[in-house]
Amino acid sequence: MKVGILGGGQLARMLALAGVPLGIEFIILDPSAEAGAVRLGEHLQGDYDDKALLTQLAEKADVVTYEFENVPSEVAAFLSEKTTVYPSANALAVAQDRLVEKNFFHQLNIPTAPFANITSLEDLQQAMTTIGYPAILKSRRMGYDGKGQIVLKTADDLAPAWESIQGVPSIVEGFVEFTREISILAARNPKGEVVYYPLSENQHSQGILRVSEAQKNDRMQAKAQKYVGYLLKELDYVGLIALELFEVKGKLLANEFAPRVHNSGHWTIEGAKTSQFENHLRAILDLPLGSANTRGFTGMVNFISNVPDVEKILSIPNAHLHLYDKSARKGRKVAHVGICSNNRPNFFSALMSVLELAVQCNVDD
Ligand code: AMP
Repeated sequence: MKVGILGGGQLARMLALAGVPLGIEFIILDPSAEAGAVRLGEHLQGDYDDKALLTQLAEKADVVTYEFENVPSEVAAFLSEKTTVYPSANALAVAQDRLVEKNFFHQLNIPTAPFANITSLEDLQQAMTTIGYPAILKSRRMGYDGKGQIVLKTADDLAPAWESIQGVPSIVEGFVEFTREISILAARNPKGEVVYYPLSENQHSQGILRVSEAQKNDRMQAKAQKYVGYLLKELDYVGLIALELFEVKGKLLANEFAPRVHNSGHWTIEGAKTSQFENHLRAILDLPLGSANTRGFTGMVNFISNVPDVEKILSIPNAHLHLYDKSARKGRKVAHVGICSNNRPNFFSALMSVLELAVQCNVDD
């Protein structure tokens, strides 16, 4: 079995690490010779829209998947004509346009923050009369980790925000006073079998995920499962999906979904009976899915900007280091630490120690 992956960053790297024990081989298309996953499989070095390389990828791989959702739709269509692509080009198209995605949530009766389509400054001024302040202007495409987003606090912010987003097609969204941010991960295979992971509670700062913690018997589990289940069914989805939600006054509002393995599920490597990476591979290869139950108290901490000191991390009991083979750069995810223990105090003790090191590493933020 050979899996082709578009993108050779840390998500591809962790997919490959999960697949090798199952006898899966990998072929990875990425422009960079330095990408963290390329030593774990055959590397096709070149651009994502290079037709000759895409043809090679399709011919050599039994199934093609991707580690980022901004794959141009022409590329997904080109590959889909030649081989199996999971998740489908349709799931990708919905997830990569915030307006299409928000309308899709509504069509499925999944609540969201109030939003409006923005194509001009006049649209924005008009929309703000109903949405109210504060709000967020988000580019429809190519936004991630808080990029392409501007908070609007008063009417004076509208013209500068529209200018700074360079007038690209956007949405404006009401700013939600959430009590917490959560995500739910689920995997579905072509037979329609589904597994749901326990909810992750996520802490972001400056739009970037910092910490995720798996929840036990969460009061919102059933509702989140219902919502992600609607997406899986409607999209006839195959692979791992992550739905990000805000909890507001006992209700869940959908923010966005990712048609791929997700940073808020990295704790599943040590903390779940089957990791999100393994279940994604099982799903796209039409294999039986593995249990998504946790092995104890579990979570993960991201290291942003600077690579952590290996010895310091390894001296913390129950902490598991994952380096992404990336050099230090401000705002870049360079590593994460998974934490898992069947004893709650030990879990928290490890979490605190890891957080202390993460704060030192992220000092440039
Ligand atoms: P996104 O790229 O949409 O996932 O946004 C990144 C982060 O910005 C989210 O995880 C939230 O912390 C914050 N954010 C995005 N949209 C909203 C909103 N409508 N209200 C409040 N916070 C938001």
